[in-house]
Amino acid sequence: MEILTEKEEKNTNSVAYKDRIIGMVEGKTPGPTIIALAGVHGNEPTSIKAVEHVLEKIKGLEDKFSGTFIGIRGNLEALSKGERFIDEDMNRIWFTSILDKVRRTPFDKVLTAERRETKAVLEIIDPIILNENKKEPVIFADLHTFSAETGLFAISSREKKNVDLLSKLNVPLIFGIEKALHGTALKYIQNTGNIGFAFEAGMHFSESAEFNATAGIYALLNASGCLDLSYIPDYEPYHDFLAQQTAGLPKKVEFIYKHIIEEDDDFVMRPGFKNFDKIKKGDWLANDKLGRIEAQAGGYILMPLYQEQGDDGFFIVKDLG
Ligand SMILES: [Zn+2]
Repeated sequence: MEILTEKEEKNTNSVAYKDRIIGMVEGKTPGPTIIALAGVHGNEPTSIKAVEHVLEKIKGLEDKFSGTFIGIRGNLEALSKGERFIDEDMNRIWFTSILDKVRRTPFDKVLTAERRETKAVLEIIDPIILNENKKEPVIFADLHTFSAETGLFAISSREKKNVDLLSKLNVPLIFGIEKALHGTALKYIQNTGNIGFAFEAGMHFSESAEFNATAGIYALLNASGCLDLSYIPDYEPYHDFLAQQTAGLPKKVEFIYKHIIEEDDDFVMRPGFKNFDKIKKGDWLANDKLGRIEAQAGGYILMPLYQEQGDDGFFIVKDLG
């Protein structure tokens, strides 16, 4: 992709593009462009390793590859510190108007670390996602991990093209999260008319999350028609591992509830909750300075918070069958 080479030569910001871009493979035949963004949260470098692994395996397969795969690191400064974010959550600022301002502001005038990081990411992805003449789809995968022990899932919109593609990944699909989380990258990308989703691969720094993220990217390459997986010799163990991790989990669920943490709440999740644990209304889930926090609805628990940074205590979702 010519645009990237041009950008590499331009020293427009403090972060070198070669550090931001994990790698890229351009197929010999036309096809979708897959953008894998990893490490938007600085305490989630695990998916970066998965992207590196996939790139290593698909390099050299350009003859067999249709389209383009590009891996990008999200929040370099937070990644270097191992923290979720420096000034503000980088996955809560992707509003069209904020991004417009970020694009128009010179780097040294951008107010927060995360907006600078976002500006640098936009310089790479804007020519891809905002290209109105493109003939092939653009698929944006925002790769995350979480602080709970197990479970993996993809956060999607209900749009048919999203659901058709993501159903092939064989992971639970979560709908309706946009009602609870505003300013996410995936929602912004969807608004630009492209396919966008978040892939939550497993617990931060865990080997299983790295395996799941790798399996998920392989499955995406196949589902989108970029690459036949028979060309990937190590696909099978990844596929089997992911299948084992998702066995028994619901296929499609819908967001119904989020516990919002406010300043000085002293929120503490009770230990032992995992993603997709079944809960009933009234179950004792967490504590804050006022005492017990009980489930306000029955369903499955999602993303119980076992880390200090973050304002979302837990989510409750219901099975859509
Ligand atoms: Zn994250």
